[in-house]
Amino acid sequence: MTSRPLLLVTGGSRGIGAAVCRKAAAHGYDLLINYHSNNIAAEAVAADCRVFGANADIVQGDTATEAGIESIFRAVDRLGSLYGLVNNAGVVDVTARVDEFDRARLDRMFAVNVIGKIRCATEAVKRMSTRHAGQGGVIVNISSMAAVIGSPGQYVDYAAAKAAVDTFTVGLSREVATEGIRVNAIRPGIIDTEIHASGGLPDRARDLAPIVPMQRPGTADEVADSVLYLLSPQASYVTGAILNVSGGR
Ligand code: NAP
Repeated sequence: MTSRPLLLVTGGSRGIGAAVCRKAAAHGYDLLINYHSNNIAAEAVAADCRVFGANADIVQGDTATEAGIESIFRAVDRLGSLYGLVNNAGVVDVTARVDEFDRARLDRMFAVNVIGKIRCATEAVKRMSTRHAGQGGVIVNISSMAAVIGSPGQYVDYAAAKAAVDTFTVGLSREVATEGIRVNAIRPGIIDTEIHASGGLPDRARDLAPIVPMQRPGTADEVADSVLYLLSPQASYVTGAILNVSGGR
């Protein structure tokens, strides 16, 4: 059993999720670090977390599949009571116009970025809600400024998926507000992680710096700081909020 509050971070092996794991460990949380394919990266994040005295386990699981959700939450139940979920796992696809999208692209985009997040939240609520004899908890969904901007000519499908995350955040927060659960979202702007390379544009974060009012991309650590705030008791009256972490864009 875990002795510190247990935090599940989906997509915790790299980028924003990994930064959240490291900072959470430093702030006294135990970690369950989910990853999809990069076992070595996940193990390295867990090792970093243990330096801060955290119990840190890793769990492979594709959040877009039921098998993945089952294995992630079986691991949660082995560890004890779940305090927090950082619903972070997400993907982009290569830059394309809407008239170039095919069905397979959209299925993946919505399976990971929308249905996977809703399924993780569902399983978290079942464990956290006082309605189900839980002790309450906190959910932080990672959205994107794309939800507001629409990302024309780049990935309107991703933007639409993130807009669904925003609406889901507001609706779920109100549904469970009297059940001890706070639900909030963060909209990162252009953050310097490997996600841009996975979309075929490894230099995207640096290239787009001039369109950001602060004239630079953000860092994964800067997003993680906001996640840690929303998880904390300092945010005890904050629910249904969507915080832009975007350098003013
Ligand atoms: P990243 O560097 O590409 O890392 C993605 C993480 O998600 C990895 O840990 C990856 O695991 C995991 N992952 C991907 N698909 C998964 C799946 N199906 N099941 C489980 N895990 C999966 O991405 P990032 O930039 O940190 O993005 C994190 C979140 O922030 C995403 O929701 C993204 O949409 C959002 N966001 C990012 C930016 C940005 O500019 N970076 C801006 C706005 C919003 P593996 O290591 O095993 O592959």
